[in-house]
This record gives sequence, C-alpha cells and structure tokens, in this order.
Amino acid sequence: MPQHKPQKKIPMRQCVGCQTSRPKKELVRVVRGPDGTISIDTTGKKPGRGAYLCPDPACLAKAQKKKALERSFEQPVPAGVYQQLADQLAAVQKEGTDAQS
Ligand SMILES: [Zn+2]
Repeated sequence: MPQHKPQKKIPMRQCVGCQTSRPKKELVRVVRGPDGTISIDTTGKKPGRGAYLCPDPACLAKAQKKKALERSFEQPVPAGVYQQLADQLAAVQKEGTDAQS
C-alpha cells in the first residue's frame, strides 16, 4: 500500500474586494473587535469577527463600493475607517517591499 503523505492544507480565504481565494497568510485580516472597532489585524490573533482583503488598496476600494465589509461585519463602516484601512494597507504594502530588499 503506498503511503499517502498527508497533504499540508493551506487555509484559504476569500478577499471581500475581488472575491479571489488566496492563502490566508497572503491576505490582510480586517477584524471587528468585541467593542465594535474595525481595524487591520496584522498578527492574525485579534479577537473578533474577521474579513479578508488582498494587501491592495484597489481591493479595499472594491469592498467599499460593494459594502462588503458592512455585510461581513453586519454593521455600518464609517468612511473614516475605510481611510484608516487604506492608510494601513499602504503601510503593510510598504513593509512587504522593505522586507524583500
Ligand atoms: Zn482582493
């Protein structure tokens, strides 16, 4: 009997902006904390309800247009939160670029 190696399962998540499924670690987790605060979870360990986005401001823009985060979090997302997320996504992107050099 050939031994089947257990396939390492990569957890996949769908970007709420472009609807593409990607490995979880390639996506940015947006989390609504127990207090209703929405922020980017760079550690993946924040408590609360999560939604996933590509580290791409274009996906955030799509999500905003479709109100995808509102749907995921079942609450209104103020424009200021989107602005913060856009800033943080830009910072995440910058970090990624720095890490490669
Ligand atoms: Zn995306």
